[in-house]
Amino acid sequence: MSRDWNVACLDCKSVDRYNDANHREELMRAIAKNSSAIAALAPLMAELPHGDIELRTFYGSVDVDWHVRHNAHKLVIISEYGDLEDLDGSELGRVDWAWSELG
Ligand SMILES: [Zn+2]
Repeated sequence: MSRDWNVACLDCKSVDRYNDANHREELMRAIAKNSSAIAALAPLMAELPHGDIELRTFYGSVDVDWHVRHNAHKLVIISEYGDLEDLDGSELGRVDWAWSELG
């Protein structure tokens, strides 16, 4: 069964979305754990013309601005069905806001 994963902010109910990251919990946890380091790249990205530099996964670009907006917030990983897992792998239940368009 397909189970695509993304990073989510519990404080804002916002999702950092990737494309078809099937069973890639480990990748999403790594992105969430290193969110502050990703956010720290924002000045570098802003200094250069759009597209000159990019932070990518096999499943799409990392939205550096998203990580700036949610810096120091409570980040977890979220499946396409809304299942939440904490960064230590513990299950946190299921939510229904996974695909809302909140930033
Ligand atoms: Zn947030």
